[in-house]
Formats: sequence, C-alpha cells, structure tokens
Amino acid sequence: MDFGYDTRTEELRTRLSAFLDQHVLPAEPVFEEQREQATGDDRWTAPPIVEQLKAEARSQGLWNLFLPGEHGAGLTNLQYAPLAELTGRSPHLAPPALNCAAPDTGNMEVLAEFGTPAQRKEWLDPLLAGEIRSAFAMTEPDVASSDATNIETRIERDGDAYVINGRKWFISGAMNPKCAILIVMGKTDPAAERHRQQSQILVPRDTPGVEVRRGMRVFGYDDGDHGGHAEIVFRDVRVPVGNLIGEEGGGFAIAQARLGPGRIHHCMRLIGMAERALELMCRRAGARTAFGKPLAAQGVVQEWIAEARVEIEQLRLLVLKTAWLMDTVGNQGAHTEIQAIKIATPAAVQKIVDRAIQLHGAGGVSQDFPLAQLWAATRTLRLADGPDEVHKRSLARRELRKYASSDS
Ligand SMILES: Cc1cc2nc3c(=O)[nH]c(=O)nc-3n(C[C@H](O)[C@H](O)[C@H](O)COP(=O)(O)OP(=O)(O)OC[C@H]3O[C@@H](n4cnc5c(N)ncnc54)[C@H](O)[C@@H]3O)c2cc1C
Repeated sequence: MDFGYDTRTEELRTRLSAFLDQHVLPAEPVFEEQREQATGDDRWTAPPIVEQLKAEARSQGLWNLFLPGEHGAGLTNLQYAPLAELTGRSPHLAPPALNCAAPDTGNMEVLAEFGTPAQRKEWLDPLLAGEIRSAFAMTEPDVASSDATNIETRIERDGDAYVINGRKWFISGAMNPKCAILIVMGKTDPAAERHRQQSQILVPRDTPGVEVRRGMRVFGYDDGDHGGHAEIVFRDVRVPVGNLIGEEGGGFAIAQARLGPGRIHHCMRLIGMAERALELMCRRAGARTAFGKPLAAQGVVQEWIAEARVEIEQLRLLVLKTAWLMDTVGNQGAHTEIQAIKIATPAAVQKIVDRAIQLHGAGGVSQDFPLAQLWAATRTLRLADGPDEVHKRSLARRELRKYASSDS
C-alpha cells in the first residue's frame, strides 16, 4: 500500500488549505456574529457569510468534491479523505461552503445512484448547484430506530399516488426553509420479508400534510445554521408514484448503500476536528502558566498531547485503509473497516476534544472557543448513523462467524 497522496490530491489539498486559511477561518467570527443576530426563519438557515464562501469555493473549483463519478468532482474515496479531513477543521463552515455537508451529500449520492433521470433533473441538479437543501427522514420517536426494520411510517399505494403517514424526529436540515426535498423511509409492505418491507420516497417539503413541528436540541444547541434537527409529522401526504426511489421494497438496501460513504465522510471530518482541538490544546498549553510553570511543562498535559497525536495518526491510517478498500473492493468488501472506523473515531476524538476543553478551563466550555461545539458534534456521532453498540454487535458477529464452523 502506498501511503503517499497522488498528484491530484496534493494539488487539491494545497488549494483547499489556502482557501481555509484565507477565507474560512477568518470568517468564523463573522459567522458567530451573524448567528447571534439571526431570528425567525433566518435562525434555521446558514448565515449570509456561508453563501459568500460558497460563491468563492465554486469559483475556485472546490465544489462537490465528495461525489465520485460523472455528477461530482469524480474523486475516489482515497483522494477525498484528506480533503474532508481539512474541512473538519471548521466543521460548521467549510463543508457547506464546499457543498459537501451532510445530509445533502448522502441524498445526492442516493439520487445519483438510484434516481431516475426525471428525479435527478428535478432534485439532484439544484442540490449539486447548492441552490436548495435536503433532508433524510428515517428515525422515529416511537420505535428503536437503530434497527431500521422497526420503522412504522406507512407508504401506501393509492392509484397513481403514494400516501404517507408517520412521525419522524432528528431529521437534520429539515427546519431550513431552503430545504426543498425530503427522502422519506417507510414501509410499503409490512408483510414482506424483514428487509424488503421498506421503501424510500421523495417528498417535497411543501407537500400538503407535511408538518415540520419543532427543532430538536442537541446538548442545548439548535444547530440552526445547518437547518436543525426537525420533528416532522406526515399526515395523508400524497406524492406521485414517480417519486419512489428505486423499486418497492428496495429502501433498506438503499439505506445501507448510503451509509458507507456517509460514515467515512463523518470520520474524515472528525480527524480534522481532532487536529483542530490538538492545535488549540498546544497553543493554550504554551500560553498559560499555573503554579510557576507553563501548562505545557506539566507531565499530564504532555501525556494528553502525545496520546492525541498517536490516536490521530492511528485513526487516519485506518480511515485511509477503509477508503482504499471502498475504492478497490467496494463498500461491501470494506464493511468491517467501515464499522471499525465508525466505532473508533468518534469515541477517540471525543476524548481528545474533552482533554482540550479541560486544558482551556472555563474557556473550554464557553462560546469563545470552538471546543464545546466540537464536543457536542463528536458526541452525537456515537449515536447518529448507527450507535456504537449496533456497529460492535454486527462486527463481532462477523468475526464470530469466521470460527463458528471450525469449532462446532
Ligand atoms: C444530531 C443527530 C442528528 C441526526 N440526524 C438524523 C437524520 O438526519 N435522519 C434520521 O433519520 N435520523 C437522524 N438521527 C437519528 C439517529 O440516526 C438515531 O438516533 C440512531 O439511529 C439511533 O436510533 P434511536 O435514537 O431510535 O435509538 P434506539 O434505537 O432507541 O437505541 C438506543 C440505544 O440502545 C442501545 N442499543 C440499540 N441496539 C443495541 C444492540 N443491538 N446492542 C446493544 N445496545 C443497543 C444503544 O446504546 C443505543 O444508543 C440523528 C441523531 C442525532 C443525535
């Protein structure tokens, strides 16, 4: 395995680093100020500075880097990995500026892979242009949704339409008035085999019967700049049959296909978030003195810093190996590694950010440093896209199966 980045990746890394240094990091205080001032619907949209950054990124060709194939920048996972890591340094600003933010990325992947030409024209094109936003609605408050076969929302055929009834929550991005389209997962046939009951369907957010009720908070944050996390009720919502993605009963498989890239993108960005936390930790440790010596001279602080560096390097290697496997043997062949990074990365990065907070004292939990928000984002990724325990269960079962026949 070659550990070096290829020429195209190096060239994009150089340009992206410059874009971050010149445009994104200086925009962070402006972003915070605009967020503070936002009221009403503006509370649920990205502040104006993000639109300015989008225009700049697009003019520099730093756009849709996440999407392989003809519809996007055409990068492999291995090429995109170090770029996504860089965007993690400013996780609220850089991914939307580059049109590389979840959940739009996953939705664009689904439309590119499974959408009909008409669906792609209506929804993928404006998403690729950054003109609209989107959301993915699977989780339900009334059932344990980490087991997607539990989902109860009904999608029922009625003539040339499907009728949708159900309740969802934590639907990221859906509070945003610019969120035009929802990909909804529900059951078309509850009597079918367990993994063939579900389908996914496109529901314009302004369809009668779609009631976006409230934004769920995450440790007190409303995450309004990326459209919050909505509770949504679907009551007799009618959409044309042409809005179904793929075939009836294919929803579970589409959800699985979506999650591979989504998980690795999260892990790549998390590594960038850990790098940012480590940088802040080192700068602070050198700048503050307690009990007669700089914090940087304390053994325990040096241990935190050394451990953080070791963990980041380990995580990066595993993420790059996973990206390489996804490119060479496909997402299915990389299943164990995708789960491994989803288990390892949020937990390790959470610890690194937590130590950076500790080193900053009260400032660490305040709005003056990005650490508290980094911690909240990191912690939620031990739940979102599958809780740790679910990945561990599935990974362990696959390991156990290797030995089951020889032992019995
Ligand atoms: C910030 C944020 C954003 C989100 N965005 C979206 C979104 O855009 N769209 C969407 O559809 N959903 C979204 N979610 C929801 C997320 O995907 C779900 O919370 C997750 O799948 C878990 O489902 P649940 O909350 O119903 O937990 P449950 O299924 O009720 O599970 C609760 C806990 O039970 C334990 N558990 C479950 N299964 C096992 C097992 N097999 N072995 C051991 N322990 C187990 C785990 O500890 C788990 O955390 C988001 C969540 C958060 C926090």
